[in-house]
Amino acid sequence: MTETKRILVTGGAGFIGSHLCHSLLKQSHDVICVDNFYTGSKKNILPLKQYPYFELLRHDICFPLYIEVDEIYNLACPASPIHYQRDPVQTTKTNVHGAINMLGLARRTGARILQASTSEVYGDPTTHPQQESYWGNVNPIGVRSCYDEGKRCAETLFFDNYRQRGIPIKVARIFNTYGPHMHPNDGRVVSNFIVQALKGENITVYGDGAQTRSFCYVDDLVGALVKFMSTDKNITGPINLGNPVETTIIALAEQIIAMTHSKSKIVHKSLPTDDPVRRRPDITKARELLDWHPVVALKDGLQETIAYFERLLK
Ligand code: NAD
Ligand code: UDP
Repeated sequence: MTETKRILVTGGAGFIGSHLCHSLLKQSHDVICVDNFYTGSKKNILPLKQYPYFELLRHDICFPLYIEVDEIYNLACPASPIHYQRDPVQTTKTNVHGAINMLGLARRTGARILQASTSEVYGDPTTHPQQESYWGNVNPIGVRSCYDEGKRCAETLFFDNYRQRGIPIKVARIFNTYGPHMHPNDGRVVSNFIVQALKGENITVYGDGAQTRSFCYVDDLVGALVKFMSTDKNITGPINLGNPVETTIIALAEQIIAMTHSKSKIVHKSLPTDDPVRRRPDITKARELLDWHPVVALKDGLQETIAYFERLLK
């Protein structure tokens, strides 16, 4: 039996957060989901209401929060480029003020705190695959900067709080993750392509589609986050979490068309500004420190995700 803990998940009504809340509830923890519903959805957490130890607080983490907790997973932040660019000032605030407030909460309560950082801290990387020791190639004044630099500043706050105040931190650099509970209008590539394929609409490949990403199924990612939280105090990260199998965006489009038996045609649209050319995590650290590696193949994860969107679009 695991010890029951009071666990705060910020951004708990979002895509990854809702799966994380569910996983923690299944382990009999007392879960507090904090969300301001900027991109999250009540639909994602409706099934969690059946658990008596699930609690929802509508709250914006840019403002202080006074509750009692043992662990904090700080996931609150829009993750899709179209959403985080809609109100970029708010995105930076969520990353920076949110981190300050959640670290303050961790300090007062003595809670461990995990930060959902991102592969975007590497920007458009000049090394491949990306290792944690790489400092990144980030445009500080571009349209993606509110997210990239916001997340980088949050990492700084986490490590300064660790060095200066001894707060037990865990910094996870998450690479592209996909699965059920992605918003149909989320704008990210997997949800866009599946929704377009199911509706018989054109599949919008940005640029020539030769850019690469490495896609991790959400169950794999959530397992890694929970494992990371339970590691020794001296294991702070940053640790890359993702699936190292790399694919081009055009190959992803073709695979989704084939799997959905869609008549959709691929059309090319202009590449967004500062779109990274290649991205693949080196997960050596995660393998060694967490004894973790992803087990869900892209084909199987896509199958689950397609089934989810088929139900949603009915
Ligand atoms: P998401 O947009 O589905 O979820 C984010 C959640 O945070 C939403 O429910 C949103 O309403 C909430 N939120 C936003 N601002 C808030 C605020 N100020 N106060 C309270 N709640 C707020 O995104 P996701 O894909 O589930 O991502 C979760 C976290 O993981 C994010 O921090 C993201 O940066 C990180 N991440 C995700 C990916 C990915 O591929 N999904 C990759 C790297 C990092
Ligand atoms: N992309 C695309 N068509 C879409 C949405 C995204 O070709 O409809 C591309 C996008 O330009 C990028 C990749 O897919 O090269 C991943 O984009 P996403 O927004 O999912 O994540 P990120 O760029 O943050 O990795």
